[in-house]
Amino acid sequence: MRQNAPRVAPGSDRRIAVVGGGWAGIAAAVALAQAGAAVTVYEAARTLGGRARRVALEGIDLDNGQHILVGAYRATLEAMRTVGADPGALLLRQPLSLEIAGRFSLRLPRLPAPLHLVAGLAQAKGLTVAERLRIVRFVLATAARRYRLAADVAVPALLAVHRQLGRPTDHLWEPLCVAALNTPLVSASAQVLLNVLRDTLGAGRAASDLLLPRRDLSRLFPEPGARFVEARGGRVLLGRRIERLAPDGDGIAIDSERHEAAIVACAPHHAAQLLERSGLLPGLRGQLGAFAFEPIYTCYLQYDAAVALPHPMLGLREGLLQWAFDRGALDGRRGLVAAVVSARGAHEELEHGAFAATAHRELASALGGLSQPVWSHVIAERRATFSCTPGLARPGNATELPRLFLAGDYTAGDHPATLEGAVRSGLAAARLALAPTSPRRGRPPIGPPS
Ligand SMILES: Cc1cc2nc3c(=O)[nH]c(=O)nc-3n(C[C@H](O)[C@H](O)[C@H](O)COP(=O)(O)OP(=O)(O)OC[C@H]3O[C@@H](n4cnc5c(N)ncnc54)[C@H](O)[C@@H]3O)c2cc1C
Repeated sequence: MRQNAPRVAPGSDRRIAVVGGGWAGIAAAVALAQAGAAVTVYEAARTLGGRARRVALEGIDLDNGQHILVGAYRATLEAMRTVGADPGALLLRQPLSLEIAGRFSLRLPRLPAPLHLVAGLAQAKGLTVAERLRIVRFVLATAARRYRLAADVAVPALLAVHRQLGRPTDHLWEPLCVAALNTPLVSASAQVLLNVLRDTLGAGRAASDLLLPRRDLSRLFPEPGARFVEARGGRVLLGRRIERLAPDGDGIAIDSERHEAAIVACAPHHAAQLLERSGLLPGLRGQLGAFAFEPIYTCYLQYDAAVALPHPMLGLREGLLQWAFDRGALDGRRGLVAAVVSARGAHEELEHGAFAATAHRELASALGGLSQPVWSHVIAERRATFSCTPGLARPGNATELPRLFLAGDYTAGDHPATLEGAVRSGLAAARLALAPTSPRRGRPPIGPPS
């Protein structure tokens, strides 16, 4: 993995613990194992992947929620390659296309950036010529300012200044903002949205490609990552919820085992609870406890095998649903649709049965008729991501305890809560955990091997 981590001698018994086997924790563990450290991953659940993991439904392997990746996820794609998970085989790559049923269609051709955007907008359906020109001007103006705002504001304030309200917002910016930041437009951070634009539409053409998983999420990276760690002498322990951490000399004790350093790679509320139970870092606990969260609902509907969507990913804007994914086109599960609603909204009041019935009705209306699904299942992830609001204070990877580090999609960085943010954070925490910090380095490792 390209991450400039300091190397320790192969076979070294520098023991480093990672609490949490989500994408951040596994990315950290892989980097540590690659650098030669003796890694132990403690994961509370029985399946690796955290908020991006496999679940079994109706006897088949699905995901806790439909995910999309983009070409700009460089660290994630590199991490996958490092552990032998081939992105080319595991992800369906296609040029960015936004297809909002009956309203809007934008497909970016394979041209160099920003020509791909200009050419795509020239062909876009659902916007007037004047609206399309306003969008191009907005993108060029923000690019000229290197996508930086003097002060962060909510997205509508930025869009109003650049005359994007109305259909450009309804058809383009709101769907992109909610998909990327999982935060309602009115309260989303304009700076983070610009960071996403910089890394996707503003970067090379391939950066804005959509990458749709063809296998369940645990198989994309967390499980091959764990095998990579184990093949280098590390341990990945499932079903191990850590209750307490304790500073121990110049290391950290976990479950009566001592480690030279520990990386807490849990979601912020879980990290706060762990620190509270451990009686550690009250200031940081307060900061972690202050995060607000946004839900993501995924409704799986199994139709007759002949049912297919017109596109693998279809936008919907007439009611509750925002996106529908054709799992048949992705992983061969013909007739299976994953319908998604991101961020807060009135749908949170619905019983799951009513939610599934609404999802079916809206799909049937968008597709011009559908027979009842054979089965349906709703997964509500109520704390799917943090609310990505303007000027949000996010903690760094280092803590006041020199051998305790944080990793997770919520730590300080340019990204909203995404797989890429999680992987980058894990890599950054691993670099810190491996860095020499005290003149006592090189002494025998702390704690007896278990
Ligand atoms: C439904 C849904 C859809 C999403 N869609 C997208 C998308 O399309 N694209 C995208 O990029 N991102 C998406 N995300 C966000 C992405 O999944 C997250 O940003 C990412 O998975 C966070 O990874 P993480 O490692 O930081 O945290 P987590 O995944 O939360 O991992 C933390 C791990 O720590 C474990 N843990 C917690 N406490 C303890 C303890 N005390 N002891 C041991 N283990 C513990 C947990 O079990 C968990 O496995 C989505 C998220 C959800 C929920």
